[in-house]
Amino acid sequence: MIKTSRAIADILIVDDDSSVVIALNKALNKIGRIRFASDAKRAFTMIEEKHPDLILLDVELPDIGGLEVCSMLKSALETENIPILFITSHTEMGFEEKVFDVGAADYITKPLNPIVVAARVQTHLDYHLAIRLLEKQAHTDSMTGLANRRTFDERLIVELKRARREKEPLSVALIDIDEFKKFNDHFGHIEGDDCIKSIASSLGMGLKRSTDLAARYGGEEFAFILPNTDAEGAKTLLSSLLKSIEHLNLSHAPEAKYDVVTISIGFSTIKPELKYENNSDDWAVVKAADHALFKSKENGRNQVSYESLDSH
Ligand code: GH3
Ligand code: MG
Ligand code: MG
Ligand code: MG
Repeated sequence: MIKTSRAIADILIVDDDSSVVIALNKALNKIGRIRFASDAKRAFTMIEEKHPDLILLDVELPDIGGLEVCSMLKSALETENIPILFITSHTEMGFEEKVFDVGAADYITKPLNPIVVAARVQTHLDYHLAIRLLEKQAHTDSMTGLANRRTFDERLIVELKRARREKEPLSVALIDIDEFKKFNDHFGHIEGDDCIKSIASSLGMGLKRSTDLAARYGGEEFAFILPNTDAEGAKTLLSSLLKSIEHLNLSHAPEAKYDVVTISIGFSTIKPELKYENNSDDWAVVKAADHALFKSKENGRNQVSYESLDSH
């Protein structure tokens, strides 16, 4: 069982029958904060203002039918994951199927039994909270709290598409801790883990734009996706991050070249003027960054290198 901390849920009731609204409010006001809308138009406005955690939806609304409202919400990316429960007095054959066909999570029949309503709503809220938590865990590196390799791979595809579409530059950087084997051999793996965490935290905080992504790429390697960032911008940012790691003053093993722990960085940039085909190798930019990282290592570590995409 996953532990979920229950925040106060935001529940939207969409119904034009005030007696239903009053009954639902009474049944649910201990579970969450309740908002109401008496027609679909108002409901859409309220959903846009703030996405509710759950929607209770009347089948018959004065403007748009509830089933259609449900389909619309389920086909929009921002609202597709909000659980929708129908409130209905329909009990005819085939109605159940219609409700699940449009993507509803459940339905509750009138007359309403407050205890049943509260239990059903709570179950769906808990379930969705657990799903969201799992989703987050699946995309996060548990040791450092940074995005994991899976997130990096997924985001890279999305950002490459966007860069192509919007004709914007995109930079990708790979970062590797210098002579980390020596660190582990000297201080031990626990200290090694702590060192990785400190560096991860500095790298994560060093990226300021909400669209930038810092990921743990592997053991003591990290990767950045920097949308809308040209080679010059990337070089400035990465050089300052490199310095900030040196300035953490984490003592390195006596056998290491530098007294303090340092990193090496390699990066490459997709230029908007480059006419790359849709089916061009998505990983070319990562491969180029990897070559650049190798150059940084070869040339003495604790430095940033760039490799052009032209040769890839
Ligand atoms: P270089 O400067 O060439 O990168 O030298 P290096 O010793 O860092 O070599 P490399 O990057 O190939 O080796 C990485 C080492 O990092 C291997 C492993 O002992 C250590 N390492 C990888 N992941 C972890 C981890 O999660 N925790 C700890 N403590 N050590 C790790
Ligand atoms: Mg109605
Ligand atoms: Mg490595
Ligand atoms: Mg290393």
